[in-house]
Amino acid sequence: MTTGVTTAYIGLGSNLGDRLGNLQAALKALSARGLEPAARSSVYESDALGPPQPDYLNAVVSVPTSLTPRELLEALLAVEAELGRHRGQRWGPREIDLDLLLYGDEMVEEDGLTVPHPEMTKRSFVLLPLLEIAPDLDLPSGEPATAFLERDPPGIRKLGPLPLG
Ligand code: AMP
Repeated sequence: MTTGVTTAYIGLGSNLGDRLGNLQAALKALSARGLEPAARSSVYESDALGPPQPDYLNAVVSVPTSLTPRELLEALLAVEAELGRHRGQRWGPREIDLDLLLYGDEMVEEDGLTVPHPEMTKRSFVLLPLLEIAPDLDLPSGEPATAFLERDPPGIRKLGPLPLG
């Protein structure tokens, strides 16, 4: 029997204001929507890409959900809005950024929604926390996620656990 529950992986990032508080507030807001993380990575700090801006804190959580990918994306965007994210320049600083990295082993290519997240395999600040909570993870392509992780990636520091707050 299928339960209709899929494990999704969500990437969280913040580089403005109370960065750890922003990650915690995002988790709280996700829980309030029934998106309760089953696993949480440590918090990683990474040098920002793009225009000069403060360093990021990043983490990844796994969330069992019966929402569709589109509904899940909408929940993430609603949480971003709720936490006061001001959409500015692309790659610019943000209070909170939530990315739908993976939705089970599904591939989704729709208007405004691509899963797996197209940048995830290029970003150590996503791969490191993802592999911490899912070391044996295979991507929908069948490739192991570890295949994309460079050894000792520069500009990224593991800090400590992500407390629920
Ligand atoms: P950004 O704020 O730069 O992360 O971009 C957010 C936009 O990317 C959203 O409005 C989504 O429509 C789009 N998008 C496409 N695929 C994804 C995904 N897998 N996760 C999050 N946003 C996505």
